[in-house]
Parts: sequence; structure tokens; C-alpha cells
Amino acid sequence: MKKYIPLSVPNMSGNEKKYVLDAIEKTWVSTGGAYITEFESKLAAFLETGSVAACQSGTAALHLALQDCGVQRGDVVIVPTLTFIAAVNPVVYQAAEPVFMDCDDSLCMDSEKLREFCEKECEYQDGKLRYGRKHVKALVVVHVFGNMADMEAIMDIADKYHIKVIEDATEALGSYYTQGRYRGMYAGTIGDYGAYSFNGNKIITTGGGGAVTAKDPEAVKHMRYLSTQAKDDPHYYIHHEIGYNYRMTNVQAALGVAQMEQLPGFIEKKQVNYDLYQKLFSDCGECRLLSFKEGTNSNKWFYSLQINDKKIHASMKEIIEKLENSNIQTRAVWGLIHQQRPYQEASAYRIVRAIYYSKCILNIPASTNLTKEDIVYVADEIRRILKGLANE
Ligand SMILES: *Cc1c(COP(=O)(O)O)cnc(C)c1O
Repeated sequence: MKKYIPLSVPNMSGNEKKYVLDAIEKTWVSTGGAYITEFESKLAAFLETGSVAACQSGTAALHLALQDCGVQRGDVVIVPTLTFIAAVNPVVYQAAEPVFMDCDDSLCMDSEKLREFCEKECEYQDGKLRYGRKHVKALVVVHVFGNMADMEAIMDIADKYHIKVIEDATEALGSYYTQGRYRGMYAGTIGDYGAYSFNGNKIITTGGGGAVTAKDPEAVKHMRYLSTQAKDDPHYYIHHEIGYNYRMTNVQAALGVAQMEQLPGFIEKKQVNYDLYQKLFSDCGECRLLSFKEGTNSNKWFYSLQINDKKIHASMKEIIEKLENSNIQTRAVWGLIHQQRPYQEASAYRIVRAIYYSKCILNIPASTNLTKEDIVYVADEIRRILKGLANE
């Protein structure tokens, strides 16, 4: 039997052990230590951004950004429905209200519908966009699977209506524009805020972890302050704000520094693996590998296979189970957030494409340590199984 091929697993083939051991030997294991500052400056240098604050998770990074831009009870935040729920939950931590948007064919937020929503459903008065009586203060745009959202259009809309833009770049560390107004700029450094995640399945991992950046260096400082319990005086325990225990630890950062050394290699490997899958699926009638946006250089974190629903009538569950029997782990795209129990009462604006894509997208193994043979096996098995189902 073929060995099990998981969807996405960490790659610890660099200096991870060495740096973690060093942190432990020096007993700097908590929220202070040289690896934290080194990790922050490595990230900032890589992203060509002023500064970065490292924290406990991507979710915490998003929460800090919402807190810093003043989102609070009675505000509205525009969010995508086709995403991981962690992109939306922090809006509710702030007692604000999400309004859900559809996706375009890149699976990222549909900028046309966003414009239409702002124009037709809201009113702009005194420099504020209002949805009903509520102030639309921010929007969270997710760069889904490493693909970049249409930032030119989204930033134009946000500028016009004075909406703060929080980029959820948790899946897109290393993706950047190669053309247009934002040429050379990385996902997460275009809007007002950018959030990153180093969870176990992301392109680099610190076990769990995250980071946040912002246009305004003072904002980064403030978010770092909030992440360490808003401590104004470390000796006398003086606090002028309510903070959080969100700071990254030195052990996590030790992993992070080692992973950052490998990031360019990981991105290269994701590209090579993608190209091979592309070749192997190019003449497949039962499915199609989604491409990444033109004018960008994507980190190609996750690969999406669109199942041809004209030929295949089997459920996604059935396809996934059949592949599991071949020792291949795959995954359906997320359940839409506006349909999840906690969000069923929230507003959702003309969601159509997200419903379609949520039924026909299959994510396939994408780890950086896949071999050529693994990829050929995965593609062959998928094609064989889909062929079988097409004939049923
Ligand atoms: C992973 C992820 C997050 C959350 O990151 P954590 O580090 O797991 O908290 C948020 N949004 C999206 C789109 C993600 O994929």
C-alpha cells in the first residue's frame, strides 16, 4: 500500500531544532527573547514593510488590527463568506457586525459586488459610510489560498468611502503583485493592516503563531502594546488600556526564524509542484486546476481542483472518501460562513458564486516535502476515481 499523503504538513528540514534547542538552553522560552525580535525584523525585511508585531495566532493578529482601527459595538465590518471562519470571528469579538460578500472567480472578494453594495445598500454622509444606522468602518479582505484579491479596485472603493482595509494574508505570505499600481508589493502590505498566520498548515509554521503589520508604524507599536497586556510600566504594573495576552513566545519565534530562512525555497517548491499538477491535469475532462491571478506572483500555498459538475454527480464527500481509501488526504473548501449557525442572522449581499464554488472545489495535497512520485500518484488516483464516478 502506498504511504499516506496528507494535505499539508510542516517542513522542518532547516535550523528548527538548533534554534529551538538554543532558546531552551538559554531558558528564554516565554514572551521575551532575541528570537522574537529577530523573527519580527526578518518578516519586516522580507515583506519590505516598516515593522511587524509577532503574536500568538493569525486570529489574534486580525483581532489586534480590528481593535487598533477602532472597530466597536454598533460598527459594521465587510467580510467574505468563502473563507476560514477565523477571518470573521474577531469582528464579533469586538461586538461589531459582519456583512458577508460574495467571491469572484479567484475565490477572493468580488470587488464589483463590493462597489455595488456600497453604492446601492449604503449611504455616505459626513465622511462615513452607513449601512442602516451602522458605520461601515472596516473590511477584511482574504487572499484565498495564496491568490491575491483585486486590491486596486478594493482600495479605490475603501478610499472613496473611508473604510479601513485589513488584509487577511494568513494564506499568502510571499505573494506579490508583478504588475499594476501595486507592482512589487506583498499581500498584507497594501491595505491599512496585514495579518499573517504560522499555524501548522501554513506556508511557514511556528506551531501556532501570527504577525500583524500596518501602514502606520505607530499602529504596529500600539498592537504590540495591546498584545502584551497593555503594560505601560513593567515594574509598577500600570495599564492605560485593556490589552490581551497575545505575544508570541521565544520558542515559537525560534522555529519562525528557521522557517523564514527556508521560505523562498518553500515558495519555489510550491511553484514546481503546482506546475507538475498543472501538466498532469491539463487534459482532464472531469476536473480543472484553478490558476492563480495574472499580474501576481503567488506563493501557491494551496491547490484547488474544480470538479466538473456536468460530468460528476457524486458528492464531494464521496470523492474525498474514495481518495482517503487510496491514502490521499483531500478537503472540500470551507462551509460558507454566512450559513454557519452563529452567522445565519447576519446580512449577506447577493451571494451566488461562493455557493457554486463551495460545492465543487477540492483541495489536494500541497506540502513542500511531496516528491514527484507522490504528485504523479495523487493526480493518477484522482483522475482514475473521477473517471469511474463520471461513468456512474
Ligand atoms: C489560518 C487562517 C486564519 C487564522 O490563523 P490562525 O493562526 O490559525 O489563528 C485566518 N484566516 C484565514 C483565511 C486562515 O486561513
